[in-house]
Amino acid sequence: MKITGTIINYYFHCKRQCYLFANRVNLEDNSEDVRMGRVLHEIKAKDGNNTEIKYENMVLDKVTSQYIEEYKKSDADTEAAKMQLLFYLKNLKDKGIIKEGKLIYNEKNKKENNKTEIIKLDDVNLKKLENCMEQIEILINQKNVPEVEKENKCKRCAYYEYCYL
Ligand code: SF4
Repeated sequence: MKITGTIINYYFHCKRQCYLFANRVNLEDNSEDVRMGRVLHEIKAKDGNNTEIKYENMVLDKVTSQYIEEYKKSDADTEAAKMQLLFYLKNLKDKGIIKEGKLIYNEKNKKENNKTEIIKLDDVNLKKLENCMEQIEILINQKNVPEVEKENKCKRCAYYEYCYL
């Protein structure tokens, strides 16, 4: 399977989730968070406010003349969000489109305090991304499914039933 932004994000969330998703065990429909995200996108689309762009293996929240903007519900998993955005920046650069990234942490009930971070595809970040993608290739092509991680994050994970029941 071709690496996608979601696979990169899952790699940082949980190696088992990343492996399962990349090997076509997609349980996203079980997730309340994902369902909520989909409904919000549908409402925005109806209102003509949906800025999401699907392009090849990328889903870009918003594209402006300078930035690829990525919106996150919280800053709980910044490394995953950064790497996902770097992946988009690199894919676009490979096609001759040079942009910077803007991560916007759109926290619930904190509209006035949204945190924004600018992400650039410089040499250091490019190296990090390439290393990460190499590790993901190794992980998703291994024979055995990684063990259940047994952490608090499991309770809200779309794969909870698959892992525990
Ligand atoms: S339930 Fe836990 S171990 Fe299973 S995929 Fe989700 S986070 Fe990983």
